[in-house]
Formats: sequence, structure tokens, C-alpha cells
Amino acid sequence: MPQSLLEAAAKLDPPEIWQLFAALTKIPRPSGHEQAVGDYIVTLAREHGLEADKDEVGNVLIKAPATPGHERVPAIILQGHLDMVPAAGPGVEHDFVTQPIEAMVEDGFVRARGTSLGADDGLGVAVALALLCDRNLPHGPLRAVFTVEEETTMRGARGLNPQVLDAPYLINLDGEEDGQVYISCAGSWDWTLSVTAPLCPPPAQGVALNLELNGALGGHSGADIALQHLNPLKTLGEILAELSCDEMLWLSDCSGGTVRNSIPREARATLVVNRGRESAAAKRLQQSFERFLQRHRSAESALKLNISVQTQLPEQVIGCKDSQNMCNLLATLPHGVERWEERAGVPETSCNVGIASLSKEADGGTLQLIVMVRSLSEAGLDILGNRLKAVAALVGGCTAVPSNRHPCWLPVYDNILLEALRRNYREISGRELAVTAMHAGLECSAFARSNPKLQMVSTGSCVLNPHTPQERAGIAGVRVLYDTLRQTLSAFGV
Ligand SMILES: [Zn+2]
Repeated sequence: MPQSLLEAAAKLDPPEIWQLFAALTKIPRPSGHEQAVGDYIVTLAREHGLEADKDEVGNVLIKAPATPGHERVPAIILQGHLDMVPAAGPGVEHDFVTQPIEAMVEDGFVRARGTSLGADDGLGVAVALALLCDRNLPHGPLRAVFTVEEETTMRGARGLNPQVLDAPYLINLDGEEDGQVYISCAGSWDWTLSVTAPLCPPPAQGVALNLELNGALGGHSGADIALQHLNPLKTLGEILAELSCDEMLWLSDCSGGTVRNSIPREARATLVVNRGRESAAAKRLQQSFERFLQRHRSAESALKLNISVQTQLPEQVIGCKDSQNMCNLLATLPHGVERWEERAGVPETSCNVGIASLSKEADGGTLQLIVMVRSLSEAGLDILGNRLKAVAALVGGCTAVPSNRHPCWLPVYDNILLEALRRNYREISGRELAVTAMHAGLECSAFARSNPKLQMVSTGSCVLNPHTPQERAGIAGVRVLYDTLRQTLSAFGV
């Protein structure tokens, strides 16, 4: 039987962390609504005799002076984020702005009733607070920085006064695996490719076909890009481009994807072909689709292409030549892993074709494609950006406009903080700490821009299915993380 976290926390290990986390789950804190949780933490820190305040954007800043004998030790910043992703399961009514999370304990995990839990990053914040408030822990000068809006705009990390980051070391506590530490994360760059073409009436003897590709696995455009899930938008572009070589077609719609940082799960198109050619065209499209399906059958078992005849012809379509051009653009765009970072065993550079839409205005029809590039190196971002510009240049009248460039956090494989964590983790758990890079963004990249000399690591404990109603936090790993950090802080630099 699941037990309420509030009732069970005092008996979980370590109780001080689970009690702090239980208190955080009671304070609603979706991104953009961090005021109450920030106030709670400032009050709590002050009650423990610590200097605590909020900055202009709502980030919480805490200072704990060195304990006697540790005054000369280099300062360490402990860092996490205050907000959580609000995700409710089907049929679950939950107002994340006003209602607390109902956390419970079951089978070695903490989860929520029907919603995301907010262990990302409430657990990281609880660990940092437990370390700061512990009067028995000797340590050098410690600071804590808890940011707002990590899950949406990174407004907190980007709005941080650089003076706050004026320290030699930072431990980010937003990790989601036991025994893992990140020393690098990817930067990203969004690109919008647009091509506009005149609209014309469809051929009078035309037949409109609707194509629907759905049931793809999708996933996170960074963390899941190496899984090689099929991108239905790209597949749609490729089968249409193939058809357009031999068959006249006029595009009326082409769309799919919802956010730039997810691999799309569905795509749609409406096209017109000459009467009498609809069966041959549909057959050809299904055959081409089969080819993709064969290559992905084991993973993409739910993927389907449905083709149906639309009874009414669209009023306006893109001309035949321009339609082919648009299909070719979608077919040619890079998608997936471009290069691997061998030492960390993760993708170095990748590209996600995230959103497509075809809009019709008085001056023509515009196909807009939004692509997100990620890389552990600035050079990788530049190279993929240039490739997208080159693809656009090959397609007549296509523009490629960049936006939202986020910097990379470059890996440093040796520093004394990382060494101390490895040594202490080995002593405590009997295992080796896995040192790797994340092919997605972390707040550390914003901190690296503010203070390039800051030596950082990012770690945490097991959080499964973050950002979903199935989010669960493993209980056993928290003790190991806590002891590793305690031993590291108490012996650091002395
Ligand atoms: Zn997080």
C-alpha cells in the first residue's frame, strides 16, 4: 500500500532530506510561480542562521560561512532550480498553481498521485538545503543558488548577477541518475526555414489525398536523439519527394510536430493529384513508407500511414513545381546525430526537425520548418547552422533565420572537485562514478558564459520519467549522494 510522503518522510533515509522534500511538494511551484517556495526557503535558511535573500528575478541566494579551520578553503556553490514541470495524467484534474502535489512512497520510490512529482528539481534543492542547514558538517565557504524558470525560459540562470557566480566551484544538483556526474552539456540553436510560393486553384480534374502519419515514438530532441526514432515529418517529406519525381502533385497542407525540442510523433499532408492517378499515387506512397517502416520496425511498431481521399478539393494549392521544391526541402534537411563525442559516449552534434506548418495568405503559401541544433561544441553549432543555410540556398526563395543561441558548457575532465567526488563516491558505494556529458541543455551553460573560469559538475540521484505524471524518485540513491557530498565538502581543500 502506498503511504503518504508527509507521514513516511521521518522514517526514510536520510530523514532530513525527505522531510525537506515533503515540505517542498506542499508548495505549488510550476515554472513562473516560484514566489511562495522562494519565500519558504529564505525563511527556513534564516531560521538556521544563514544569510538568505532573493534577487530581482526571484532566484534564492544563500550564504553559509566556513566553519572554524576551513576559512581558506575555496568556495563552492550548490545549485538547483525552484520550479517543476506540471504534468497531469489523463483524466486527472490538477491546478498546479494552487494545489499541492500528493506525494507517496511505494516500492522503494516516491511518486505523486496522478501528476508529476517535482523531484526534478525539488530533491536537488532539498539535498542542498540539508547540507547548508547541518550544523555538524564542517565545510569551507558555501553558497546556494536556486533559480526560477529552469524548465521554460532559463530566466533565473540568465538573469543571475555574475557576482553571485564569482567562486571557483559549482555543484549543480539537477542530475537524474544515481552514480553519474556530468561535466559538459550541449548548447543549442534554433533555425526557422521558410519558403513562400504563389497559390493557384487545383486542377479541375484533380483528386485530393489526405496523408496521416502517426504513432511514432517521438522523444526529447536531445536526450533521445541517439535512439534513432523515426521522424514522421522527415519521412513524409521523403516519400512525397520521391512521388513528386514521377507524379504531378499540388500541396495544400503539410504539418506536424508541436515543439521544437521534441522529436515529432505525427505529420500530415494534403495534396492533389490528377484524376485517375490517385490509386497509383497512394500505392506508391505506401510502398515508400514500408521501406522506412522495415528499417524501424522493432521500435516503431505503432507507426501508421493512413491515406484517404478527401471529398472536397481545396480552394487553393501550391503550384506543381513549388510543391516539389517544398517536399525536397523537407526531404533534404538534416535530422539526427551528426557526430559523436566518443570519450563521453554521447552525441556531440545533432539536429531535430521539430515543427512544420503550411500557411496560406494573400501573397502565397508558406512552408515553415523549425529545426533545433544541439552541440557540445560551438564549432558543431556553427557547422550545422551553415549546413542549414546551404540547404536553404539550394531551394529557390528559401530563407534560414537563426534565433535563441544558447552556449555550450565545455568539458573539463580533470579538476579537484571532480576528483574528490570520484574518490568519495568510490569509498562510499564501492562503485565508480560515471563521468559523462549531457546532449541537452543545463543551467551550467548559462553560468559558464557568466564566469568562464567556474569549474562545475552536475549530479543527482535517480529520477525516472521526469516531466511526466509517471515521475518517480528512487529512495536508495539519495543516501549515497548525500554522504558523497558531505564527505566531499568536509574534506575539500584542507
Ligand atoms: Zn531539472
